[in-house]
Amino acid sequence: MRICETFVSIQGEGLTVGTPAFFIRTGRCSVGCRFCDTAYSWNSGEEILVGEIILSASSSPVPTVVVTGGEPLEEEDLPLLLNGLLDAGRRVILETCGHFFRDDLPEGVRIVLSPKPPTMGVSFPEESVLSFLKSYRQVELKFTLFSEEDLRLIKNFLKKNSVLIPRPVVFQPLHLPTENYSDTCRRVVEMLLSDGDLLSQFDFRVIPQVHKFLGIK
Ligand code: SF4
Repeated sequence: MRICETFVSIQGEGLTVGTPAFFIRTGRCSVGCRFCDTAYSWNSGEEILVGEIILSASSSPVPTVVVTGGEPLEEEDLPLLLNGLLDAGRRVILETCGHFFRDDLPEGVRIVLSPKPPTMGVSFPEESVLSFLKSYRQVELKFTLFSEEDLRLIKNFLKKNSVLIPRPVVFQPLHLPTENYSDTCRRVVEMLLSDGDLLSQFDFRVIPQVHKFLGIK
C-alpha cells in the first residue's frame, strides 16, 4: 500500500474528537479539492507491505487506529489492512470523502464519510455517499462547510435522504487560507444557529478541527 506517513496524535475531528490514535495516512488521492489541507499526500510516500503497517500500528500502545488520507479507498489492499488491524484488536476508524464506493470493507470498522461541499470545487458524491449509508451500519456523516451555498446543498441532501441519515450529523467548519479559522468557526456556528429548519429537523453537532487550534497534526 502507498503510505504517506504514520504518527500518533489525538483525533482532531468528528464525534471521536480527542481520542488518542495511531494515524495511518495513505499516499494517494485523485479527487483534487481546491482547498485540500493534506495536498502533500496526493502522490506521496512509499509502498509498504500491509503486514508491516499492521505490525507498526499494533506495536503502538494506542488502541485506536485512524486510517486517513489522501483517499484510503483508492488503495486496493485497504480491506486487508482493515481486517488485519481488527484481528490485532484495534478499534479502527476509516476516514473517506465518499467519492469512491466500495462494498468490501469489514463491518467492524467505523466509517467517517466526509463529502466535500461546493467551496472545495469538486462535485458532491451523492450517489456513492448513499451507497455507503445503505451498505454499512457504523457510519458517521461529517459535512465540512464554509458558505451559505455549501449549507444549501447539504440541507437538500439531508432532507431528501432523511431516513438514511445517521444521527447526530457533524458540521465541521472548513479551514481556508482566506479567513482566520476562529472567524470561520464563529460565522459557521451563527449560520447554523440561525437556521430554524435545520435546528428543528436534525440532531447535529458543530465540531471544529481541534488539531488546527492546537497546531498539531
Ligand atoms: S478528498 Fe481529501 S485528501 Fe483528497 S483532495 Fe479532497 S480533501 Fe484532499
